[in-house]
Formats: sequence, C-alpha cells, structure tokens
Amino acid sequence: MAIKTSPEKIAQVVELRSQGRKYLEIASELGMGVGTVWHILNPNEKYERVKARRKEFRTLNVLSTVVLGQRVKLKVKKRPKPNICELCEEPPRGKRARLHWHHWDDEHPEYGLWLCLRCHNGAGFIEKGLLERYLSLKEEVVHAT
Ligand SMILES: [Zn+2]
Repeated sequence: MAIKTSPEKIAQVVELRSQGRKYLEIASELGMGVGTVWHILNPNEKYERVKARRKEFRTLNVLSTVVLGQRVKLKVKKRPKPNICELCEEPPRGKRARLHWHHWDDEHPEYGLWLCLRCHNGAGFIEKGLLERYLSLKEEVVHAT
C-alpha cells in the first residue's frame, strides 16, 4: 500500500515517534489515521500481518458487550486465549469458528472464560437461572406422567 503523505508529514511522524509519542497521539496531532502513521513507521511490514496482529490485540484486550441496552466496547485484559473451549474442551467449530470471552459481571469483565459458541450460549442460559427451571420442568413432566 503506497503512502500518499508529504515528506514533511513523514518527517513529523518520525520525529514525534522518536520522542516516545504513541501512534494514536501522533495520528490525532497530525490529523491523520493511525493506519497511516503505522505505515510510515513500518514501511516494510505487510498490512495483512498488521491486521492479524490488531485483531489478536482486540481479541485479548477489547470486550464488545451490552450494558444498559447499549452495545459498548470495553478495554479488558483477558486471560490468554487457549486453542480449545475451556468448558467442553473442544476446538471451536462452524463457519466463523472462534472462542468467545464469556464474562458474568459487568463490574469485572476481566473475570471470564474462553468458550465456544455453543458453550457461550449455554453459559448465558445458566446465568439467567434457566438451568434450575429446566431441571424443575423436567421433574414436573416426569412426575405428572
Ligand atoms: Zn465449548
């Protein structure tokens, strides 16, 4: 990807970075995207690798959740992600197979488990108290017949 940025801007980016400034700070100060800053500072890196690394970073540090009916993104330091679901111990399956960060306390979203989609749904079911209801409904059916 070619950088369409003036040599002056490039020099400014390099200068700010040498002062220890963060990519995001440089981007906002110079009115450019953080991706552009990144390309200037890492001209030989492949963009696909950057995207993969960013995705991995978001996976481990950002939680998309619903708080008071609003979808929000929270900065969360999650535990290292295993290759298999921590509950059923199977690798995630399906088209967009991935592990999901299941948390149960919005005050402490860092407390969580890496679960496959099936187990994540199951955990939500249990968190809602539906396990007890399911078991008691089963009992009712068995005793009623
Ligand atoms: Zn699972």
